[in-house]
Amino acid sequence: MGFQSGKVLSRGVRWCAAICCFLIAIFGTAASSSMEIARRVPRILILYPYDERIVATTEAGEAVRTRLLEVTNAKIELFSEFLDLSRFPEREHLERMARYLSAKYADRQPDVVIALGEESARFIVQNRNGLADHAKIIFGGFSRATANNLKLPDDMIGALSEFDILKTAEMARRLQPQAHHLYIIGGSADFDRAWLATARTDLANFSKDYETTYLENLTIEEFTRRVAELPRDSIILALTIFKDSSGSNFIPREAIRQIAQTASAPIYGPYPTYIDYGAVGGNFVTFNSLGTTMADLALGAIAGKGGSSVDAPPTYVVDARQLRHWGLSAANLPPGAIQMFKEKTFWEQYHYVIIATLAVITAQGVVITGLLIERRRRRKAQSESHRRLLEVVHLNQSATAGALSASIAHELNQPLGAIRSNAEAAAVILRSETPDLKLIEQILVDIRDDDQRAHEVISQVRNLLKKRGDIDCQTFDLNDVAASAIKILHGEALRRGVAVHTYPLPRKLPIRADKVHVQQVILNLATNAMDAMLDVAACDRRLIIETALARGSKVELSVSDTGRGIPDGQLASVFEPFFTTKPTGTGLGLSIARAIVETYGGKISAGNRPQGGAIFRIVLPLAQSG
Ligand code: ADP
Repeated sequence: MGFQSGKVLSRGVRWCAAICCFLIAIFGTAASSSMEIARRVPRILILYPYDERIVATTEAGEAVRTRLLEVTNAKIELFSEFLDLSRFPEREHLERMARYLSAKYADRQPDVVIALGEESARFIVQNRNGLADHAKIIFGGFSRATANNLKLPDDMIGALSEFDILKTAEMARRLQPQAHHLYIIGGSADFDRAWLATARTDLANFSKDYETTYLENLTIEEFTRRVAELPRDSIILALTIFKDSSGSNFIPREAIRQIAQTASAPIYGPYPTYIDYGAVGGNFVTFNSLGTTMADLALGAIAGKGGSSVDAPPTYVVDARQLRHWGLSAANLPPGAIQMFKEKTFWEQYHYVIIATLAVITAQGVVITGLLIERRRRRKAQSESHRRLLEVVHLNQSATAGALSASIAHELNQPLGAIRSNAEAAAVILRSETPDLKLIEQILVDIRDDDQRAHEVISQVRNLLKKRGDIDCQTFDLNDVAASAIKILHGEALRRGVAVHTYPLPRKLPIRADKVHVQQVILNLATNAMDAMLDVAACDRRLIIETALARGSKVELSVSDTGRGIPDGQLASVFEPFFTTKPTGTGLGLSIARAIVETYGGKISAGNRPQGGAIFRIVLPLAQSG
């Protein structure tokens, strides 16, 4: 098998070398003949003893085919013949088959014949001539003792299967460490009796540890009855039952199946055919291992190697369903044991689904983490922009307070002056002999009202100048805020001779925003409007503030004037920061107004009225419909 395990040559090259060796070995130096044969690939005939339904041989044959095709890269001609000897055991049939096969392969004789099982080996030995004159014969599937009985010629080599009952028994001991009883079952055929004799020798030592009983010379009914009554801590070793004591013939595995159905303890056996027929398992050469070993011998033969028979490697094999049935632990199995009919674990069954699910979950996790990070960033950016907005609005408010300071001072002076006048008047009244107390009381009420007015002016100024740490979002009526802005502007409008007209929609217009910010927007727009009317005749200076509902659950507040309007070319620029047409302007009022309106989900726009003057509209979402 050197050509198979060589690591230097590629499989193809090795194969060519093998074919050359084979040709030289078989055909010597006859140049013309070699030339003819070199043009073809080796022919291998697999000889099955029975028909295609017999699992043992077909499985081994399949393993032979697989191995040969794999190693030769399919550069091989494979033939299969089923001798069908279980249904046609007669001598006539054998002779017919021999004639038929000789004729069939006359022009294409195989280079190697693989004989599966005892009957195939016997057939090819007897009918070699004419069918496989120069072929190398490889046999397999029976023991060395059987091979000796068959008296096979020296040039035939094979894969021998030794049936070691001791190893099977040892596996049973590992699986049932608590067992006290050992039962060995064997039939009444010659072969069965020979087996029983072998077992007595092989198990001589082993059985000393148990209360041992040989169940033999029984009918199949007696077998089934006896095994049904055995103590649970028993090991049952089944050899073969080709015949029972009544002379009935059996296929051993069928007899084992019948017995296993009533058995009260686990049954073990040294044959692969007992698996799936009720046996827990045993130590034996699997069909697959046998086939592979035979194929390797055939490959060696093709490569021109002489070689000799080998033992096919045995394996411990168990039926996982039987382990479960008898409550035997797989952990006690000998190393390397094969478990057949093992139910796949959840992972084995669904690992693709599990991997896919995990991948989806991981992907989702990554996306969710990404979104959370993104949200955190956005929130941070939002709070940063809020902070900046607060700062800018505060500066804007301070500037507004500065710009309105003259009128604010005037607004404050009025109630203070009135208080002083009223106080002086009260003093005069008190100095009279009969002071009019009713009048004094009225004066005091007036003083209190004026004080209240002064207080309101001061708190307006304080509100304008107060620096706030955060946006104070609340729901309020837009009309109320417009009214409070007009109150602040009132003095300035008077001072500038501007008539203020307000047209609030007569219903509540709830919006959600920071009140002070919305008020500041109105103040900016109104201040600009008043600035725009400086050149207009005093009687035509009108500032109009109006509220209305807009489409899509929105509310609109417009600030218009009768000033010079905005040149068309500047309409797009007025909201740009630092855009100003005023000598002392900052160009920030409208950009701050836009920033505020957009912060609360609204829009601001500028335009000119058809009758002259500019109009600014802010549209904000209503806090609740209706
Ligand atoms: P500033 O008032 O400091 O100039 P704004 O951003 O408030 O800054 O205004 C930018 C410019 O928009 C003003 O300089 C002016 O040219 C124009 N503008 C704003 N409101 C009006 C208006 N009602 N009528 C005409 N032009 C206006």
